[in-house]
Amino acid sequence: MSNVYVIGAGIVGVSCALNLLEKGFNVTLIEKEDGVKETSFGNAGVITRSSAYLINNKNLIPSLKKYVFNKHSAVRIKYSYLLKNLPWSSQFLYQSLEKKSEKNIESLNSIIEVSLDEHKKWLKKSGNMHRLRENGWLKLFHSKSGTQSTNYEQSIYKQYGINFELLDTEKIRTLEPALKPIYGSGIHIKDAVSVDHPGEVTQNYIDLFVELGGKVIRDDITRLSQEDSKVILHGRSFYNADEVVIAAGPWSNDLLKTISRPLPMCFERGYHQHFEYPNEMQLTRPIYDVDSAFVLSPMTNGYRLTSGTELNDKDAKINTIQLQKAIQSVQNSITLGSPIKNSLWKGNRPTLPDSLPAIGPHPECKHVWLAFGHQHVGFSTGPATGRLIAELIVGQEPFINITPFLPKRFF
Ligand SMILES: Cc1cc2nc3c(=O)[nH]c(=O)nc-3n(C[C@H](O)[C@H](O)[C@H](O)COP(=O)(O)OP(=O)(O)OC[C@H]3O[C@@H](n4cnc5c(N)ncnc54)[C@H](O)[C@@H]3O)c2cc1C
Repeated sequence: MSNVYVIGAGIVGVSCALNLLEKGFNVTLIEKEDGVKETSFGNAGVITRSSAYLINNKNLIPSLKKYVFNKHSAVRIKYSYLLKNLPWSSQFLYQSLEKKSEKNIESLNSIIEVSLDEHKKWLKKSGNMHRLRENGWLKLFHSKSGTQSTNYEQSIYKQYGINFELLDTEKIRTLEPALKPIYGSGIHIKDAVSVDHPGEVTQNYIDLFVELGGKVIRDDITRLSQEDSKVILHGRSFYNADEVVIAAGPWSNDLLKTISRPLPMCFERGYHQHFEYPNEMQLTRPIYDVDSAFVLSPMTNGYRLTSGTELNDKDAKINTIQLQKAIQSVQNSITLGSPIKNSLWKGNRPTLPDSLPAIGPHPECKHVWLAFGHQHVGFSTGPATGRLIAELIVGQEPFINITPFLPKRFF
């Protein structure tokens, strides 16, 4: 059986590795870090079909004036970075036109709607079902009329059968009595679920992969090359792969650049910080305060507060201004315990212009497969991506339409 190497042991890489192992390949997972530390660790742990309502939808351009001066903590834009990244910026805006974005929403929905079942398969096999909270998530607005700004979003939810309910102050208090009464309206996405430690879920999938016979190597792959019908991975050692899957999240283009053109990509950085639970009532599910632009998720190790996004280079200096604003705002919403020492984290979401991940064969480099660009939804869609990659490599008909995700759309 062929030797397949998967580069990157985040949720996407490990899901590719597990699915490939199941198909009978000899699979090696290569990871540069000691443990799960990147976006698969630091995310909010929410798996929700409502994320099919992608950011570059037809409302993006009309709402830009809210964000251009970096006054709203939902988005912070480093303009020199966007200018340097003009092909991405212009295509991202172009893809927000109504017809384009509605097609992209349909495609994103097709992978998100199968994601929970794919996760459940591996959660069960790895003994992690107890981590799953199947009680939805809340999008909250300060004013009573807040949800009126979401009419288009609600129409998309209805179109795709996403189960939601509009909430008033009282219903919000009934669902989450730990919240202070500052919210005037909200949306309960009822079929959303969440996990209480995405990093441990990913680590447990890695442990399961090893238990089932997979191999994990710690190495930092710096370049790829092709010789005859093999792909050579260059790290501290050399590895001869029959097939290689690039699942290195935000670093994927660094590897791709060594054998091909990179894909147009932007980094949407996010920060988080943890807080102790107070000695009183706690949230039972994650909440998204839309006006103050933070998500608060109950985790095994306290509340995780995540900030809005910063459009900046992945190696740019840390700027916690959005997180600091979130820390101020969250005190109005709920009582938190003390900040947990050394829990500040940053990570970069890799976003492609159509907000869809690239999944499938490299159109010009044989035996090279791409599985990256999962923007805000990679924790959810990792396992479905892994199944698609394994089905494609083995030559099986993919279980959902793969066309919108194929990397060849960028070549
Ligand atoms: C603040 C925040 C909140 C989020 N919330 C959610 C959420 O609630 N739900 C959701 O679905 N998604 C969420 N996301 C997005 C999600 O976390 C990502 O899309 C997902 O984790 C991407 O997984 P990945 O495996 O592609 O990347 P990563 O988890 O970043 O993994 C890539 C791995 O590749 C390794 N690697 C890189 N280069 C090399 C190399 N050269 N050699 C060897 N190894 C290498 C890295 O060390 C890393 O471990 C959030 C993201 C952020 C930042």
